[in-house]
Amino acid sequence: MRYAIVSDIHANLEAFTAVLEDIEKRGGVGKIWCLGDIVDYGPDPHECIELLRQRSHIVVAGNHDLAAIGKIDFSEFYPDAVVAVRWTSRQLTPTDIEYLQGLPTVIEEDDFTLVHGSPRNPVWEYVTSPDIAGENLPYFKSSFCLVGHTHKPVIFRYQENGDCTIDQFSDDIELVLEQDRLMLNSGGVGQPRDGDPRASYAIYDSESRVIRLYRVAYDIATTQAKMLKCRLPVGLISRLSYGR
Ligand code: ZN
Repeated sequence: MRYAIVSDIHANLEAFTAVLEDIEKRGGVGKIWCLGDIVDYGPDPHECIELLRQRSHIVVAGNHDLAAIGKIDFSEFYPDAVVAVRWTSRQLTPTDIEYLQGLPTVIEEDDFTLVHGSPRNPVWEYVTSPDIAGENLPYFKSSFCLVGHTHKPVIFRYQENGDCTIDQFSDDIELVLEQDRLMLNSGGVGQPRDGDPRASYAIYDSESRVIRLYRVAYDIATTQAKMLKCRLPVGLISRLSYGR
């Protein structure tokens, strides 16, 4: 079976659509594994939820999904994010809210644990370093853990001596799952932050045990024009051009 690993769609319909088209072009997948933050920041929260729901998928809640339905306190968000989450919460339909209410924060499937932030703190923690990845090892039992939240594609590899290494997960890597335990981040679909503005996602083939990352160009200008029309913060609009 083939799975698409997508994270941090952030209500960016153009990016998500481009990723779904790219998946089809590569032969399709049986299921989507989504690592949360479907909504917030971007202009199309309802449409992105709908598009995901039309497909076979599993999804864990991200901090922005929970903030948009008032399930967590977002007063700690930076000012642009507070404006965006308030706007987002007004766009959601009762069905969207019900759907987001029902999302789990951790899913174990196959030999993978899926979380948005980290296994230790699925909603909030950013896994940004080998040290943090290392501290999280006791918090998942599966061989592999999939995380989002930082919007940066990386591979953390656990060594037998307990050390953890980090590599950028680029689209020229054919990652074969073997003995090593791994924590992977497939990057952000709707708001990449690794300096490459293209949408980022991965495909896992459970037969060959290979995971590959893909980068997909999308119509950034259309997303930005919609955001301007919705009067979303300028900083959130411009960052899409740079992938920062
Ligand atoms: Zn996010």
